[in-house]
Amino acid sequence: MDRMTTLFDGYEGRLIVVSNRGSCTFKKTSSGLQATPSVSGLVSALEPILKEQGGIWVAWGGRYSTASKAMGLSLPLPEKNPRYVNQEVLLSRKEVTQYYDGFSNNCLWPLCHSFLEKTIFNEDDWRTYIKVNKKYARVLAKVAKPRDMIWVQDYHLALVPRLVREHNPLAALALFWHIPFPPVEIFETLPWARDLIQGILGCDLIAFHTESYTRNFLMSVEEITGAKVDYRNKTIEWRDRTIKVAALPIGLDCKQLEGLAQRPDLRTQAQQIRDKIGGQYLILGVDRLDYSKGIIERLEAIEYLLENYPEYRGKLTFLQIAAPSRTSVPAYSQLRRRVEETVGRINGRFTHNYHSPIQYLFQSLDKENLVAHYLASDMLLVTPLRDGLNLVAKEYVVVNTGKDAILVLSPLAGVAFQLKQAIIANPYYPKALADSIVNGLKLTEGEKRHRMNQMYKTVKGQDIFWWWKMIQENWIASYRHSQSKFVMHPSVKKQARVAN
Ligand code: UDP
Repeated sequence: MDRMTTLFDGYEGRLIVVSNRGSCTFKKTSSGLQATPSVSGLVSALEPILKEQGGIWVAWGGRYSTASKAMGLSLPLPEKNPRYVNQEVLLSRKEVTQYYDGFSNNCLWPLCHSFLEKTIFNEDDWRTYIKVNKKYARVLAKVAKPRDMIWVQDYHLALVPRLVREHNPLAALALFWHIPFPPVEIFETLPWARDLIQGILGCDLIAFHTESYTRNFLMSVEEITGAKVDYRNKTIEWRDRTIKVAALPIGLDCKQLEGLAQRPDLRTQAQQIRDKIGGQYLILGVDRLDYSKGIIERLEAIEYLLENYPEYRGKLTFLQIAAPSRTSVPAYSQLRRRVEETVGRINGRFTHNYHSPIQYLFQSLDKENLVAHYLASDMLLVTPLRDGLNLVAKEYVVVNTGKDAILVLSPLAGVAFQLKQAIIANPYYPKALADSIVNGLKLTEGEKRHRMNQMYKTVKGQDIFWWWKMIQENWIASYRHSQSKFVMHPSVKKQARVAN
């Protein structure tokens, strides 16, 4: 399970993934510990790597403890066929409120998605964020061995790389930032921007989904820390190390999805969904219920469409699957209310002959169920106001390749730079989105198939294993380079003394 990872370049060590949430959320029940799968792009992407590679996944499992306790259970996962070890980190209720709901989701999430009006700066939340990052570093100090590869995920744990490096100057450390990185003038509004950047600079490799997030990050580093940045080679000179920065869009386990898309029971389920919904066109939306996903704006576009293209009334159904997310954060409960009011208003206006144009599910579906819905639909609307990448768009392409389905994409989704054959539509302007939906539905079958097939080639060529290979390639090169410089450098002893 936590077997040795041999990287293509011969480097040997175990892979240790570190993230806020792991693949499961745990709950103590009378019959023992109950594990529920987590829903997120991060989990969808990382689990196949850990299943293939083995290693340790260090993450908070959703359980509460006292603030002083950090180490939770070590559980082999998946339960039926263990491939890796889940090392639980324990957090107190107050830590979760301030580090997760507070600093991560009320401050960094809106800031990085450029929603400054939603960004809350709170000193207490920041202090708890530091405390929780230190807790993770303490767990890593117990779990990690000197040659392990420590791969930190996302904005919740930006201080961990520096904390680990201080403890172990020769550690192999990388970070993948799963959300957008904003332009420097937005990032600089964060009162603790410098601390956060310095935390991240503990890494050998820092990777983002797109070139534009990478450029924004490099500019922030240069502006905020004064470090020497090489924009052409995407490197940063920092404290005797050369740090590599890379744009590597996350991919999918295509084989697994293709297997599901071929399953006869899921194809039958897709037909049943279609029969139950009726009508001529089924348009789908699949998102966590998050304000970055543009769900309200999408509903308004459907309303505009029904108003201005009456020929689609009674023929078109829009089904929004909204997976519950961050329900204890007020911005999310407010969004839920607004979405439900908007659905009610549109259905009130356009329900005809007992056919309601909007179907809305506030629940998360497992992968099988999701694939059946992808197969059942004619079109997927992925129209975020801002989104790091958006794996749902790629999943739709893989499941529907060879079919006459249509993907409508916002230019503000990171994946838009990869999926050029999608129909690109401005999510902020209901008319533009409605017109794009109608234009998409009117494409010929051949044109729809052609676009899907072209996008499939891109998704398949840059799948999750391609992504992991590219991460390794960049990581090991940067690690080796810094290590050789570091070992030779006279400051090495001094640094080691400071760290101890
Ligand atoms: N997902 C799921 N069930 C749902 C809704 C979403 O399993 O009901 C999965 C979906 O298949 C995808 C991930 O959650 O793999 C969402 O990733 P994405 O990058 O689109 O957005 P994120 O939630 O990470 O912002």
